[in-house]
Amino acid sequence: MILETFPVGPLQCNCTLMGDEETGEAIVVDPGDEVGRIHRRLTEHGLKLKQILVTHAHIDHVGGALKLKRLTGAPILLNQNDLPLLAMMESQAGWLGIAPPETAPPDESLEDGLLVGLARYPAQVLHTPGHTQGSVCLHFAPLKLLIAGDTLFAGSIGRTDLPGGNADQIIDSIETRLLTLPDETKVLPGHGPATTIGDERRSNPWL
Ligand SMILES: [Zn+2]
Repeated sequence: MILETFPVGPLQCNCTLMGDEETGEAIVVDPGDEVGRIHRRLTEHGLKLKQILVTHAHIDHVGGALKLKRLTGAPILLNQNDLPLLAMMESQAGWLGIAPPETAPPDESLEDGLLVGLARYPAQVLHTPGHTQGSVCLHFAPLKLLIAGDTLFAGSIGRTDLPGGNADQIIDSIETRLLTLPDETKVLPGHGPATTIGDERRSNPWL
């Protein structure tokens, strides 16, 4: 398995590329920016992109999705509860003082319980609203891996002061959907270093 996580764009969103060398298929999670670099990694590995998965519709996570779709033909998946945020791309770009990227509605909604990813490395979608109403985490149970978007960070949790944020809801999502996963589950947050569910259960001051 190929698994690469690298920060992209001015807000250093963690973009993850997962590939299966046997089938030649790949997924990309949160192509917020630097689409040329992401596309080059796919080409260098000889991988064909099967799905573009977006944990939520903040500009730093979704900004490059349409460009990557145009380069590869892969569908974009994003939870439908974040469509209002996707429609606010100009204001989101205004918060950062940058030009708004072009966006398009997703090809499919990342609904809770949906199985996505690669045949040998599937992930279950966990709808974890709070940072935004359409925030999801991707749980690759056989890999003991969670891609957490901006819901859970090493030593912190996602901010809830932006449109669609809800502080009580994010705590409830983390406690009922994430802390119930096995302690050894590796967590790849949307920004910053990796952690584990056990470490966050023991030492995250927000929980
Ligand atoms: Zn965010």
